[in-house]
Amino acid sequence: MNREELIAELLHAAHVLKDGGYLPATDGNFSARLDQSAAIVTRSGVEKRALTQGDFAEVTLQELSPRDASSEWKLHRALYLSRADVNCILHVHSPALTAFAAASRCPNVHLLAEAEMTLGGIALIPYCPPGSGELGETAARYGRTGGILILERHGAVAVGGSVREALHRLERAELLARVEIDCAALRSRVEL
Ligand SMILES: [Zn+2]
Repeated sequence: MNREELIAELLHAAHVLKDGGYLPATDGNFSARLDQSAAIVTRSGVEKRALTQGDFAEVTLQELSPRDASSEWKLHRALYLSRADVNCILHVHSPALTAFAAASRCPNVHLLAEAEMTLGGIALIPYCPPGSGELGETAARYGRTGGILILERHGAVAVGGSVREALHRLERAELLARVEIDCAALRSRVEL
């Protein structure tokens, strides 16, 4: 896909995620790989729920702190450099996955067959300050495989070979997390 097509895909993802309540305030950031050495990433401080074509910065993977790119660029950069299979990264603070992040746990991917077949595994990334180079290095180390990373005390990341794959993984992971929380509540009611 060319730059315009990738931006259209990311705008579609933002629209879907906005409708699902994944994007409070200015939280979250998205990127897509242009080629082996460059990517587009959302600019810093914009509302992802109202994203437009002009809200993307084009950066090379050599750049550690490009001006006006997302504050989480270091996380995106580290994952692109360490994983050739990743062409899109979506980071959000969605309610159910962020509950797992706050509890320092991964959802159980085996709870739902669809999740087991499509998510490609879920990894827990130990806490590092948001926006730090340490977070990028730790995510690359603990998230060598799999489609979903849970950032401890922070939020979630979906990666994919395409924007659609990352988006669908994120939606299915959020559903899985919601179902696991609801399941636990139901089981505790039955035991009363
Ligand atoms: Zn975040």
